[in-house]
Amino acid sequence: MSQIVCPACKDATVVEVGENPEGVKYFVCSHCRESKRWCSRCDQGWLYKWVDPTTNGVLFNCDECEATWYSIEKVGSNPDFS
Ligand SMILES: [Zn+2]
Ligand SMILES: [Zn+2]
Repeated sequence: MSQIVCPACKDATVVEVGENPEGVKYFVCSHCRESKRWCSRCDQGWLYKWVDPTTNGVLFNCDECEATWYSIEKVGSNPDFS
């Protein structure tokens, strides 16, 4: 795989560290510790972690297909919202 540039610190220091949850590739930037996941639904975009300001709940959103999950356990299954 070619080098992945971190959107946070702009260094090509993003490495795959396994699957979390199972079936969803999990990456961490070794420089700034920013983490992200590869979308297993569209296989084209990154999943980013967000905090919903109204509920303070964590959600995960794909920047390509815009699928949204409200818990990490559900990521990779049918999205809660798309
Ligand atoms: Zn980084
Ligand atoms: Zn997607």
